[in-house]
Amino acid sequence: MSMITDVHTHSSFSADGKTPLCDMVARAEALGVGYFGVSEHFDYDYLADGVLCEGKQVPMTDAAAYFAAARTLQRGHADKLRLLAGAEFGYTPNEKAHTMYEALIRTYAPDFVVNSVHTVDGADVWFGEYFTGKTKRQAYRGYLLRVLESLSAPYAYDIVGHIGYVARNAPYEDRLLRYEDEAALFDEILGGVIARQKILEVNSSGRGAGDFIPNPDLLARYFAMGGRLVSFASDAHDAARICDKRGDVVAALRAVGFTHICVPDCGKRHMVAL
Ligand SMILES: [Zn+2]
Ligand SMILES: [Zn+2]
Repeated sequence: MSMITDVHTHSSFSADGKTPLCDMVARAEALGVGYFGVSEHFDYDYLADGVLCEGKQVPMTDAAAYFAAARTLQRGHADKLRLLAGAEFGYTPNEKAHTMYEALIRTYAPDFVVNSVHTVDGADVWFGEYFTGKTKRQAYRGYLLRVLESLSAPYAYDIVGHIGYVARNAPYEDRLLRYEDEAALFDEILGGVIARQKILEVNSSGRGAGDFIPNPDLLARYFAMGGRLVSFASDAHDAARICDKRGDVVAALRAVGFTHICVPDCGKRHMVAL
């Protein structure tokens, strides 16, 4: 199996995905990816909390169609790459959503789950309204408290998704989310990731809020605290971004001291040398 991994991508089964799943897999194969993880959006936080996206309901991924297609492709490409049919869950404290996520896990048994915070108190932090009337400190702290809470989600998950998502589209001149800004809170979050043996995702879709998220200072702190489980994610929503900036992320991880990437696979973990 190739040492190249990209675990957390989206195809057009997700409302904001651009490329059909079969073309995503073909591109990953052409790039020589060994473990390719697709994680379509399951935004049950939106459903449970009635969150709208620019005034409209977000279309939900068709779970039955997605998992059927992914399983067929998984078998068809088994000699070339390990296709992981996963899911990205949008965390909310709302128990209605937890019940829906647990049902999805029972029905479709995703190969891995990324647990991500996109919404805080009914607002997606991608959109401007979340920041209205908040200082950078207030807005980022509100998001980080939700990330801390998400670690205790009652459903099974493997990866803590894109810590720093709040900074991707924030309206501040200096958008960077730094360890030193919330050191005590970050220590609680990173300690929680380590204690639960979850995988900390390094996501190369930083969108200008750093080349990747979390930033190198946070990765260094995680390593110093004993954290060794990291994954690489392009978070590609089209085939052209698969493995985007992977070389930069690998170099940064090596500089901190990491030697392996961790790939979750049906409850097991593959430690792939960097
Ligand atoms: Zn996400
Ligand atoms: Zn994603």
